[in-house]
Amino acid sequence: MDRNDLITTLQNEANLKHCFNKEDIAILAQHMSVKTFDDNAILMRKDEPADCMAFLVSGRVQIIEDERQIALLTTGDCFGESMFSEEATRVASVQALETTKVGWFTIHDFHDLLETKQRLALQFREVFKAVGRARTEQHAAETYTDKRKYLALIAHNNMKESLMEFCRIHTHKLEQFPLIATGTTGSMLFKKTGMCLSRKVASGPLGGDQAVGTLISTQNIIGVIFFRDPLSSHPHHADIEALGRLCDVYQIPLATNPQSGEAILDYLLSGKADHQPLPNRVLESYVKGQKKVVEAS
Ligand code: PGA
Repeated sequence: MDRNDLITTLQNEANLKHCFNKEDIAILAQHMSVKTFDDNAILMRKDEPADCMAFLVSGRVQIIEDERQIALLTTGDCFGESMFSEEATRVASVQALETTKVGWFTIHDFHDLLETKQRLALQFREVFKAVGRARTEQHAAETYTDKRKYLALIAHNNMKESLMEFCRIHTHKLEQFPLIATGTTGSMLFKKTGMCLSRKVASGPLGGDQAVGTLISTQNIIGVIFFRDPLSSHPHHADIEALGRLCDVYQIPLATNPQSGEAILDYLLSGKADHQPLPNRVLESYVKGQKKVVEAS
């Protein structure tokens, strides 16, 4: 019964049907064993040798990398094709989310198939090598991380002229950094100074200040030059405060007027921030404390 379920699933629901005919799929299924895993069971573990792959007959599994679900698989899906990669090492873990039945195909099953049905075995290996490559590429695209370290430029409306002037005076210094700016500031910089940004986020009141804050938390900001208007109030006061707070949390130099802007530029260009970084006691002790919270849970 189990084996018939497996053959039917592989013939009708698995991606295999696009590459193999029904007879070949039945032969492949004959070389698999049917295994049942309990809810929560770990079917494959990251960094272990990849010596088998599997096809889901029923149930659900999640693919986990760095405590994060990167895929949810159901009937007909396959996993574990890293068996055919050069490294033959698991790149993620697989965990059952309910009682789950799979067709289990080990490296020994593959060698048996190779002896009896060489053409089919080689075709199978080629197909799943390609599946593995495609998944790796897709994963790399989805998890692309920007490693650049931006200098952020922001100015409130009454301060924009002052920032333009500052940028004209310090063009050569500023050009040495990838620059990021909030929406209106960025557009004005381009129009008035010809300065090209590497990245632009939303206008400050529309989330731009928060976006810069997020980039501070991902270590993508080396300094913030934010000419704040000290003489008017702003509807996004909370966002402005939050950005300043994050600068303090991560010890990111924040300049709020032209004089401190100059100081920041010279400091950043001196390379001191890289060679002699000051310890960040506040952050270190917070991170330690949160580790303990997780350990105690
Ligand atoms: P803006 O935003 O560059 O879009 O004007 C700046 C701000 O007000 O925070």
